[in-house]
Amino acid sequence: MLNPRFSDTGPRLPPLPDAAWLDAFRRRLRAWYVRHARDLPWRRRGDPYPIWVSEIMLQQTQVAAVGPYFERFLRRFPTVEALARADEHDVLREWEGLGYYRRARQLHQAARIVAERHGGMFPRDVETVRSLPGIGRYTAGAILSIAFDAREPILEANTTRLFSRLLAYRGDPASSVGQRLLWSMAQTVLPRRGAGRFNQALMELGSEVCTVRGPRCHRCPAAPLCRARLEGVAERIPPPKKRPAFEDRHEAAIVVRRRGRVLVVRCPDDGRWAGLWDFPRFEVRSERPADCRRELAESLEARTGVVAELGALLETLKHGVTRFRITLDCYEARHVCGPDGKADRAPMRWLRPAELEAYPLNTTARKLSRLIGA
Ligand code: SF4
Repeated sequence: MLNPRFSDTGPRLPPLPDAAWLDAFRRRLRAWYVRHARDLPWRRRGDPYPIWVSEIMLQQTQVAAVGPYFERFLRRFPTVEALARADEHDVLREWEGLGYYRRARQLHQAARIVAERHGGMFPRDVETVRSLPGIGRYTAGAILSIAFDAREPILEANTTRLFSRLLAYRGDPASSVGQRLLWSMAQTVLPRRGAGRFNQALMELGSEVCTVRGPRCHRCPAAPLCRARLEGVAERIPPPKKRPAFEDRHEAAIVVRRRGRVLVVRCPDDGRWAGLWDFPRFEVRSERPADCRRELAESLEARTGVVAELGALLETLKHGVTRFRITLDCYEARHVCGPDGKADRAPMRWLRPAELEAYPLNTTARKLSRLIGA
């Protein structure tokens, strides 16, 4: 049963559990995990590199989507040295479709640091790990605990929800007060040994039982200990997040053809899809079709130095990026002249459609490449 002698966490915050509660919780969670652990490919390996890759892929992406990418990525870059030696272009190509490409670029940069400064050995010191690109407090804790059984806490979406409910914390878990409380809980709940397996069990319980769609308390090993369930507020914790306001946006992509080749440009480092390639793409501001075509031809020339005659509308694609709901009109265009060779323009290439297969493209560019027979 829930023990009332919890330690004080400050005004208006639920107290952290005491030793008796922790013992009971750990026992119950371990017993549950023995029977319910999923067979995930990154759990089958003992070294930090695959664990690291999986943790980066799992940021913002569901387990089911990560599986095939993880296997393919590890086949292509089986060691940290192999990843460090790779060209960023190839790393992005393997990542293509997973989204949030900054993760791939940072993983690649971090692999180079591990190879150059640490002789290919993943560091064990949490501060050194956190100084690597793309690795925050959660990811460092996950890698160090799972790979080396270091007693490092973790707090991600699943454990945030689980701890909020176990403690009946009604506030915003993303607030600084909420984060302080939940990180304290993540640290307190960890056993002295077996932290890596225990952290995985916590995430599994959050993901499979104490879920974002609603708590399944009747299947939960922590039910007799859970304050939210005992207080009848589990369904209301955490409070619903404000939905982001979406903005509609009209864009156009242009497939410029020149002697059997098409024009692609590299997305700038400080923008969307940094490092990937795309067909020249622009926001459309004009309302009338004739104005729109003129605007696109001018934008194309300004960006690439290419003068082209806009042809047929090939397809209209709908997709979302961050807060934008984008309608993307895809046009064909015939090359007239240019580029004029000015050096400050975005990197661009004329490729045969078949060559696009080797290039990392964003999702709409890949669809468009299929449409033109690549
Ligand atoms: Fe979540 Fe219910 Fe389990 Fe509490 S008892 S941790 S609310 S599933």
